[in-house]
Amino acid sequence: MQYEEILARTWDVVIVGAGPGGMGAALYSSRADLSTLIIEKNFVGGLIALTMEVENYPAVDFASGMELAQHMEAQVKKFGTEILYKEVTRVEKAEPVGTAPSFHVRLADGESVRALSVVVACGSAPRRIPARGEEEFYGRGVSYCATCDGAFFRNKDIMVVGGGESAFQEGHFLTQFGKTVTLVHRRDQFRATPLAVRRARASEKWSEKLGYTIEEIKGEGVVTGVRLKNVSTGEVDDVPVDGVFGFIGYEPAATFVEGLCELDGEGYLVVDGKMRTSCPGIWGCGDIIKGSLKQMVISAGNGATAAIDIREYLAEHKDAETASAEHQAA
Ligand SMILES: Cc1cc2nc3c(=O)[nH]c(=O)nc-3n(C[C@H](O)[C@H](O)[C@H](O)COP(=O)(O)OP(=O)(O)OC[C@H]3O[C@@H](n4cnc5c(N)ncnc54)[C@H](O)[C@@H]3O)c2cc1C
Repeated sequence: MQYEEILARTWDVVIVGAGPGGMGAALYSSRADLSTLIIEKNFVGGLIALTMEVENYPAVDFASGMELAQHMEAQVKKFGTEILYKEVTRVEKAEPVGTAPSFHVRLADGESVRALSVVVACGSAPRRIPARGEEEFYGRGVSYCATCDGAFFRNKDIMVVGGGESAFQEGHFLTQFGKTVTLVHRRDQFRATPLAVRRARASEKWSEKLGYTIEEIKGEGVVTGVRLKNVSTGEVDDVPVDGVFGFIGYEPAATFVEGLCELDGEGYLVVDGKMRTSCPGIWGCGDIIKGSLKQMVISAGNGATAAIDIREYLAEHKDAETASAEHQAA
């Protein structure tokens, strides 16, 4: 569909984010014949597109996140979902359509899309490594995506920062490229599952620096090393490396509904059991909701829950309009 046509319509459902949450919502809403638009600022699949290994989604034994994302995209398009590649900067209330509230979904290029309901499925963005030099070398040896950038570090020395599932899973993936992969973690205990830890440690390229943080990332044009700091003694140590991959958590990305929907102290969306936010007409799903277990299957399920509720909500408004029109005609 042409951009002008997208802007000219009033959509039943506008979904912000094409990750598993947004895709789950789109599948159910477009299959229920609701006009559905997904707005995505990067690429389909969201965070799952960044991983090479998915083996915990029902009926999927093993697939890359990108493969899954492509299947999801084809499936929602089959039922009529449109995908628009733009960044959403703000959601604002617009004048009601009949009895239903409506919204302007503002885009970074200054345009806006009109929606009768909005699903916030924006997930979260990788937390940046809090070290001097991180900004200077971001994209020049500092990365947050092993799938995207791992191949640039063939036979190089790689450092991975973090102690959770992603750090071990993605660090393990990087062992197929790097000459060495060293995990740096501030503690000697991990949030990662024992299985992920065992798999990473099985590689002869793998080593760990526990009880350290990265104080500085250094280089000349590209990364050439890091300065590590021992958390207990404060001693520093300069280590040569070519790449630094951060997996230290994620920051919620729902600032575009701040003031409209209730967010918790950390910026996660507060929703009820039907995924309704505090603002009638806006739903949330996936990693962005408060208390989310941050798994693909859960995000997709949340999306389906939201879409089923939206179908009922829009039908109720249509019924109310019909009743009011009949009342006026009588
Ligand atoms: C490395 C890694 C490996 C993982 N492995 C697994 C696994 O094996 N199994 C599993 O179940 N889960 C895994 N996960 C977790 C899983 O990826 C997430 O739980 C899931 O992707 C969350 O889906 P979501 O749709 O809520 O959010 P996301 O996947 O984060 O998608 C949100 C989308 O919204 C877009 N967006 C954000 N803000 C805006 C805006 N303002 N305008 C437009 N678009 C916007 C983003 O670009 C993104 O595409 C992994 C995560 C990572 C990082």
